[in-house]
Amino acid sequence: MTKPRLRVIPLGGLSGIGKNMMVMEYEDDIIVIDAGLMFPEEEMLGIDLVIPDISYLLEKREKIRGIVITHGHEDHIGALPYLLPQLNVPVYSTKLTWGLISVKLKERKALTGAKLTVVPPGGQITLGKFNVEFFPVCHSIPDAVGLIINTPVGTVVHSGDFKLDYTPVSGKPTDLSRLAQLGAQGILLLLSDSTYAELPGYTPSERVVGETLDHIMADAPGRVIITTFSSLVSRIQQVIDSAAKHQRRVFIVGRSMTDTSHMALELGYLNDTGGVLARLDELKSMPHNQVVLVTTGSQGEPTSALVRMANRDHRQVHILRGDTIVISASPIPGNESLINRTVDSLFRQGAQVLYDKVAQVHVHGHGSQEELKLLLNLVKPKFFVPIHGEYRHLSLHAKLAQSVGIPKENTFILEDGDILEVSPQAGKIAGKVTSGNVYVDGLSVGDIGTVVLRNRRMLSRDGIVVVIMAVNKQTGKLVGRPDIISRGFVDTRESKDMIDESRDLVARSLDHSGDRPTEWSFVNTKVRDILNKFYYEQTKRRPMILPFMVKV
Ligand SMILES: [Zn+2]
Ligand SMILES: [Zn+2]
Repeated sequence: MTKPRLRVIPLGGLSGIGKNMMVMEYEDDIIVIDAGLMFPEEEMLGIDLVIPDISYLLEKREKIRGIVITHGHEDHIGALPYLLPQLNVPVYSTKLTWGLISVKLKERKALTGAKLTVVPPGGQITLGKFNVEFFPVCHSIPDAVGLIINTPVGTVVHSGDFKLDYTPVSGKPTDLSRLAQLGAQGILLLLSDSTYAELPGYTPSERVVGETLDHIMADAPGRVIITTFSSLVSRIQQVIDSAAKHQRRVFIVGRSMTDTSHMALELGYLNDTGGVLARLDELKSMPHNQVVLVTTGSQGEPTSALVRMANRDHRQVHILRGDTIVISASPIPGNESLINRTVDSLFRQGAQVLYDKVAQVHVHGHGSQEELKLLLNLVKPKFFVPIHGEYRHLSLHAKLAQSVGIPKENTFILEDGDILEVSPQAGKIAGKVTSGNVYVDGLSVGDIGTVVLRNRRMLSRDGIVVVIMAVNKQTGKLVGRPDIISRGFVDTRESKDMIDESRDLVARSLDHSGDRPTEWSFVNTKVRDILNKFYYEQTKRRPMILPFMVKV
């Protein structure tokens, strides 16, 4: 008889940055850690969001004891509004994370019926055979935790996203003494954040940004407009503190920024003791050098307040000469060109723009190499799995683990869908489950397949050609030459000869085919083949070709 083993299965976050989701399974119990989203890459045209494929969880729904969330960033909570209605299981998180989840669920009308439970940092919950302890970690959002998971085969530590900021702006520093204590007792498996495994040294403290903001507020001749993630509550706090010091009032612009800051004020994660927060209708009467605006748009999101301001499309705020705009975030990979376009258009309107390449207006929230090594040294796990990263991040993190003495054969570089089986003695990759991307396009979830995406890609790159063929109802013979209409493919006037030639080509091929052209699937394929080849030879492009048959 084989002994039961712990199964560790990443469903997201290990084959690319974002949409984090980790499954732990022991006999009849499953817990899920995080349920995040990923922003689409540039070639995913028209896609709003990407979430993990949870087919595996849907199959085993009755075994799931709960979803445990490490912190309130989109790449850890963003899929909940889409997945929770399907899974209908309880969700456990700290208070601020709970608040952010509630805001998200409400936006998507998925809050009713959701079972959300708050667990304080340091608290514990029992989920089937798992006991989960939340330990405080420092990250670019307050109330972030890592997890200490007691399982029947041993203790697992999941770092969440973390860095070792000894002077965090809000919240506690990472609880190193608790980890050292655990390390002394013996840890079976460590799962640790690899996002910044490429960077040597230590990640700077959030305090550095506070100093930069102070200088900006002191020196800016006019308004200061700061854009960041709405979830970066500690950054908003830094803005409020710095504004108070420099006799400026703070105006929050945009719905998600307003919702989040209200929630954070109510829960006590934002403090406005100086009373610097002001209502937007007071903005008009304020001298410019006493104004700070806080808004979303740091990723160039087309519907965000900053992008609308940049495009002169915002109802309340117009960019003015003398404005100083601070982009206090680093670009999520894939968003660079959107952000650059926004920055260009802000400069064009006479604003001064400060972003991470020109000023220290942002520090990231993930540990660099020395911090990752320190965690490995404290926890001293038997087995190690690098998480949260692309393959190179995971590989580099695995190397770091070897450098501090974790044997290579005890380190597993997993990809999404891999099943890692662990017993107290051994670990091995034991197969694969379904995993991948589910695309969210406006209101529809999951019915955009790779075919739709491929078509969108083709259309955007090479355009479309519609072929209209008239056929005689009785004889099934082609009547005249087919008509060809194209969009986004070639200049129709300049390429008139080529299009004409292709009309003849289609006509000839159907005449000579000997088959009755009314056999639709045959005609369809044949016309597409011929034109594909011809157009590619002529233009090196592959437009989408849509044949139509009209019976006359
Ligand atoms: Zn995070
Ligand atoms: Zn993350």
